Amino acid sequence: MTTANSGKPLPQITDLTRPFWTAAKQGKLVLQKCAKCSTFNFFPKPWCIECGSRELNWTDAKTGGTVYSFTISRSVAMNFPGWEAELPVLMCLIDLDDGVRLYGQVKGCKPEDMKIGMRVEAFFEDISDEAGIPKFRPVQ
Ligand SMILES: [Zn+2]
Repeated sequence: MTTANSGKPLPQITDLTRPFWTAAKQGKLVLQKCAKCSTFNFFPKPWCIECGSRELNWTDAKTGGTVYSFTISRSVAMNFPGWEAELPVLMCLIDLDDGVRLYGQVKGCKPEDMKIGMRVEAFFEDISDEAGIPKFRPVQ
């Protein structure tokens, strides 16, 4: 596992997932959208989760979402100094406005202020020469 990401693990980028990471590097959130039924898919898959079509196009997605659930990490299980420096870490399940749910870190919020149903918006951090990652912050 590579840890060039300021002491955090890097995702294993494949041909299937590369557009997501590359777009995040450019400050954009993209998701696979089915050309047949218009369903957004996440995480990236070779076929549509709704209708099975393989006609999936990477499409700009809305950056807004709602916190579905969250956990507050106050320690790290492995020695990742990058995570230790950010403790406590707010790791959330976010329901994006385009209808998919993904994991994401919320920053700029005190743990005691985190709430299910909170509105958040994506922003992007570089994690390597080829990838960025969407993270989220509360919408005021
Ligand atoms: Zn479909």
